Amino acid sequence: MKEFKETLILPKTDFPMRGNLGKREVEFQATWDEQKLYEKVLEKNANKPKYFLHDGPPYANGDIHMGHALNKVLKDFVVRYKNMSGFNSPYTPGWDTHGLPIENALTKVKKVDRKSMPVHEFRKLCQEYAEEQVAKQRDQFKRLGGIGDWDNPYVTYQPEFEKLQLQSFAKMVEKGLIFKGLKPVYWSPSSETALAEAEIEYHDHKSPSIYVAMPVEDGLGKIENAEFIIWTTTPWTIPANLAICVGPKFEYVLVDVEGRRFVVGKELLDSVKEELKWESYEILETFKGSDLEGMSYKHPLYDRVSPVLVGDHVTTEGGTGLVHTAPGHGQDDFIVGKKNGLDIYCPVDGRGIMDDSTGFGGLFVEDANKEIGMALESKGALLALKFIKHSYPHDWRTNKPIIFRATEQWFASIESMKDDLMKAVEDTEWLPKWGELRMTNMIKDREEWCISRQRVWGVPIPAFYAEDGTSILDVDVIHHVAELFGEFGSNVWFEREAKDLLPEGFTHPGSPNGNFKKETDIMDVWFDSGTSHQGGMTPFGHTGQADLYLEGSDQYRGWFNSSLSTAVAMTGKAPYKAVVSHGFINDGDGKKMSKSKGNGIDPLKVMKQMGADILRMWVSSVDYQQDVRISNEMMKQVSEGYRKIRNTYKFLLGNVFDFDVMKSVAFNELAEVDQYVMVKINDLSKDVIDAYERFAFDEVYRKVTNFVTFFSGFYMDFTKDILYIEKADSKARRSVQTVFYAALNVLIRLMTPILPHTADEAYQFLPGKNVDNAQLLDMPEPREYNTDVVEKFDAFMKVRSNVLKALEEARNAKVIGKSFQAHLKLYPSAEVKELLESIENLQQILIVSKLDILEGKGEYEFENLSVDVVPAEGHTCARCWQVVDEVNEDGICSRCEEVIE
Ligand SMILES: [Zn+2]
Repeated sequence: MKEFKETLILPKTDFPMRGNLGKREVEFQATWDEQKLYEKVLEKNANKPKYFLHDGPPYANGDIHMGHALNKVLKDFVVRYKNMSGFNSPYTPGWDTHGLPIENALTKVKKVDRKSMPVHEFRKLCQEYAEEQVAKQRDQFKRLGGIGDWDNPYVTYQPEFEKLQLQSFAKMVEKGLIFKGLKPVYWSPSSETALAEAEIEYHDHKSPSIYVAMPVEDGLGKIENAEFIIWTTTPWTIPANLAICVGPKFEYVLVDVEGRRFVVGKELLDSVKEELKWESYEILETFKGSDLEGMSYKHPLYDRVSPVLVGDHVTTEGGTGLVHTAPGHGQDDFIVGKKNGLDIYCPVDGRGIMDDSTGFGGLFVEDANKEIGMALESKGALLALKFIKHSYPHDWRTNKPIIFRATEQWFASIESMKDDLMKAVEDTEWLPKWGELRMTNMIKDREEWCISRQRVWGVPIPAFYAEDGTSILDVDVIHHVAELFGEFGSNVWFEREAKDLLPEGFTHPGSPNGNFKKETDIMDVWFDSGTSHQGGMTPFGHTGQADLYLEGSDQYRGWFNSSLSTAVAMTGKAPYKAVVSHGFINDGDGKKMSKSKGNGIDPLKVMKQMGADILRMWVSSVDYQQDVRISNEMMKQVSEGYRKIRNTYKFLLGNVFDFDVMKSVAFNELAEVDQYVMVKINDLSKDVIDAYERFAFDEVYRKVTNFVTFFSGFYMDFTKDILYIEKADSKARRSVQTVFYAALNVLIRLMTPILPHTADEAYQFLPGKNVDNAQLLDMPEPREYNTDVVEKFDAFMKVRSNVLKALEEARNAKVIGKSFQAHLKLYPSAEVKELLESIENLQQILIVSKLDILEGKGEYEFENLSVDVVPAEGHTCARCWQVVDEVNEDGICSRCEEVIE
C-alpha cells in the first residue's frame, strides 16, 4: 500500500507547544530592553493624544507581594491597551520612600544606632537603604512584564521631587491653609509620632472597662449627697478628666441604691444596674440634661472641682449617659473643652509615659491603668471593673494600640476648602461607582489634616522660629528653601544652620539678634506622595490632571485623598479625571493572606514556576473591583485556559505557514461558514475593545476564552479536512487560511495587554509580520458586516450540538469509532430541514463520511430533529480517511486522486 502522508499539508511551525514561561519570559524582556520597546511604542504614538495613568507610588520596602502584582498588572493592561488604541500613554513608575518603616528597617534590620550619629548621616543611610529597595522592587515589577520608563522613575527623595513638594506647600501657605495648633491627634507611643488616619487600623483589643463615681460638689440646690457615674475604657485618662458632659435633651435620674445616691442617664439605668450588680434601686428624681448644666463635681483622686457641661456628642448608646471628658485626650473632649475654656491638659508624653502632675509619673499608660484603678478603689470611687474586647485603633506599622494626645502640630485645613473638594469629587469619574460616595464621606467628616511628624526621614516642614518663639511660615522663605532642596536635596536642612537656610538678610521682629531656629518636624509621607501630581506623570514634565489613578481601595483614605486635597488647594481641581480602585487579595477560602498563616502566594515564585503571563491572566480573570481570591487550584485552572490559547496559536500558526497574505480571499468570496467565523472574530474585537474601554478586564478574559473554545471546538476541527487534504492553493484552503490569519491577528492583538510575552512570541512566527513586537501594533479595527449568515449559523450551531450528542452516544454504544466512520441520517422538522439544506458542505462541517436528510424518525430524538447514526459503508480512503463508495487501485478516493494530480 502506498504512503500518502507526504501529500498531506500538515501544520508546520516552530512556535513551541510548551511556553516554558518562567525561563523564556526573562529572555523576551531582555530583548524588549534591547529593542527599546517602550521608547518605540511612544515614538509610534508620538502624534497621538496623551493618556496619563499616574502611578501611585508603592512604599519602597521589602519584596513585592500579590497586592503589588495585582496593582501593577492592572495598570499595565491600561497602558498597553491605550498605546494600541490611538493614544500616547507614557508610564512613569514611582516610589514612596520617606517615613517610619525605613527608619525602623535601619535600626532593626541593619542594626544602625541612630543616636550615635548626626541626623543628616542617619538620613543618608535611610536614602541608601531606600535606593536598594527601589532597585530591588523595580526588577521585581519589571519581571511582571510591565512596560514603562523604568530607568527614570519618580522617587520621593529626589531633589526635584522635594522641590516641587515644597512649592506645592508654599502655595497652600499662601492660601492660608496651613496652621499650627494644639490638638489631640492619633498618637503612637510605639512609634513616638502623630499618625494620619490612613495609618490607623482597627483591631480587637482587651481594655479595662470601669465605672467611676464622681462626688457632686455643687448640685445647684437640686442634688445633694450624690455622685455622678462615668464610664471609660481608658482609665489612664482619668487623671486628665476636666469635665462631665451630658446630653441636654436626655433624661437623667437620681437613684438611691442601698443608701448611696447616684446620677445616671435614665435610658441606661437598666444596663448600669446590671453592670454594677445592683439588686435594686429607687428613683428619687428625674432631670433633664440641661438641668444638670453648671453643676460641679470633685475629682475622686485630686482636690479638683470640675464642671458638668452639655454636649451634642453625648449619646445613650452605651456607658452611663454622663461622659468622661479629658480635653487633652479626645476629639469631642477637645471641642467641648475649647468651647468652655477648659485646659487642654495632656499629662502624657510622646512615649506614652504619665507625668508627675498625675501622681502616676513614670508609668506607661497601659501600666497606669491598674494603678489608677487601685487608687480609685481605695477612694471607694471604683464601682465596677471588668475587661472587654473591643475594636480599638492601632498603629498600622507596629500593630500597637495608639492613644489620643494633644500636641502642637502643623495642619492643613480641609474645612476651608470643603466645597471645592466636594465639587472635585463630583467632577471625577469613579469606578466602581460607590467610590464617589466613599470619597465624599471621607471628606465630609474631615476638618483638617495633621501634616507634621516627629521623625527625621522625610521632607522637613520649612518653618523657622524667632527668638521669641514666634513660628515663621513665609512663602518667600519656603521658595528659597525649595530651591536649596532642588539643588542639594532636603538633607541640606539638617546639614546647615537655620541662618544658612534663610534668604540672605532675612529679618524678623521676633529676632532682634538675628537668631533663628529651624522646625524639627517633617511632613506626613502622605503629603509627599499627595503632591506627586506635580512631577510624577512624566519625570517632572507634565502637570495638570491625570487621566487615571488606579489603586487599591485603601487609597480612598490614603493617596486618592491626600492628592485630592493638595491638588484642590493648588488648582481648585482634582488631580485626576477618573479613579479606578481594586480590592484586596484573599486566599482561596476568602481569608486574608498572611505570612504567619502560611496561606500567602508569592508572585515571584508564581512567575518563576508558571510565568508572569499566567499571573497576568489570573488578574484578568477576576472581578478586581471587589476583594479577590487566589489559590494554587485557581492558578492551575488559569494555566489550563492559557494552554488552550497557546494551543490555538500553535494550530493557527502551523496552518498559515505557507499563507500569502496577498492571496487572502475577500469576505464575499469566502465560504458561508468561513464568513460566519469571520464575523464572529469581528464581534470578538468589538466586544473586547468595548470591555477594555470600561476597564472590564474580566470580560476580556471571558470573551476570549469563550471564543477560543468555540473556535477550536468547531472551526479548527472540521477545517482539517480542507487544510491537510485540499491543494495548497485551492480556494477552499485559502479561504480557511484567510480566516485563520484573521483570527491570529485579532487574538494576538487583543491579548497583547494581558499576555504580552506570549503575544510577542506568537507574533514572531506570523507570516508577513511588519513590526518588531506585537506591542507596536494597534488594536484591530472592527468592521460592519452586512450579512445574514450569522443568524443562519447561530441556528445551525444549536442543531449541530444535538447532532454531536447523537454521535457521542453512538460512540459510547460502540456503533462507531471516529466520527468519520459515521453515516448520519437526519430527520428534521420542516423548518430545520430548510436550514440544513441551505448549509454548504454540511457533511464536512459535521465531520462524517455520509449524510442523508430524510423523512421519518431516528433513534436519538431532539426538538425539531431526530437522528440515526450507523456505520458508514464503503472503503476508507488511505489519504483522507473518509469512508467512500469507491477507492482507486492505490486505495484513495476520487477527491484525493484529483488533489494529488
Ligand atoms: Zn480521500
